[in-house]
Amino acid sequence: MVKLLQALKKLMKKIINIKYIYIFYFFCFSSIAQTIELDGNFIQGGLVIGKTNPASEVYLDNKKISLDEEGTFLLAFSRKNKPEALLKIIFPKGKKITKTLNIKKRQYIIQRINDLDNNKVVPPKHFYERIKNEIEIVKRAKNIKVPIAYYKSGFMWPSAGIITGVYGSQRILNGLPRRPHFGIDLANKMGTPVLAPADGIVVLAYDNLYFAGSTIIIAHGKGLSSSLLHLSDIFVNIGQEIKKGDKVGSMGESGRATGVHLDWRMELRGIRIDPQLLVSKKDLRKNF
Ligand SMILES: [Zn+2]
Repeated sequence: MVKLLQALKKLMKKIINIKYIYIFYFFCFSSIAQTIELDGNFIQGGLVIGKTNPASEVYLDNKKISLDEEGTFLLAFSRKNKPEALLKIIFPKGKKITKTLNIKKRQYIIQRINDLDNNKVVPPKHFYERIKNEIEIVKRAKNIKVPIAYYKSGFMWPSAGIITGVYGSQRILNGLPRRPHFGIDLANKMGTPVLAPADGIVVLAYDNLYFAGSTIIIAHGKGLSSSLLHLSDIFVNIGQEIKKGDKVGSMGESGRATGVHLDWRMELRGIRIDPQLLVSKKDLRKNF
């Protein structure tokens, strides 16, 4: 009985913690075989976990989405995703349903950073080869197929600190417009532990990338990954299986960084999503 109450309390807490956009679609038809559940953030930068009959076919804006043996699939909405996304499901017996998903638009802030080393804003020509090579290394790491749905462990903040940068912000570095910022920045002391935000496999552990500095990429399965940037130390190796909360590195300021911070980025099959939508702000600690 006590256990049941505790479980209920936990569940209630979870429900109350749910962020500003949380929609649960449940289309029930004549048989269980034609049920679909969608759960997540229907917003630019959001991630949605879906579940349906594993023998179905799922398309998002006419792009086929792969399902696992349990019928689970992942959807992501980009920073500038259009306001409507079309979900199409073809059930095993040929019945087809389409559903328009309304994707909430976001306002992104403009962030100006002026004290950056100019070489990191506009890299000198002799670094081009190195940068090109590094882009390829990162791409290859992200393309490694990890079929296990590690992301089911859920997510936690990978470090403690103060938020100094958010997803989607437009960046103007030393007066020059640059690519938007896709991660969440947590600033803290040099050497602050950096933890795995969810279960996964290390697909990249690389010292000193030109822009990102020392970087770890963790594949959470099914094309979902986390990148942890600007580290001062890396404690894991490529191929290593890790659990949520494992210490994988230390916070630093390697690469293009204006101070000691961790930049946590996430993407699903090339679409960059907002990690902050997967954790609760009140769980972020200033220090460990
Ligand atoms: Zn950053």
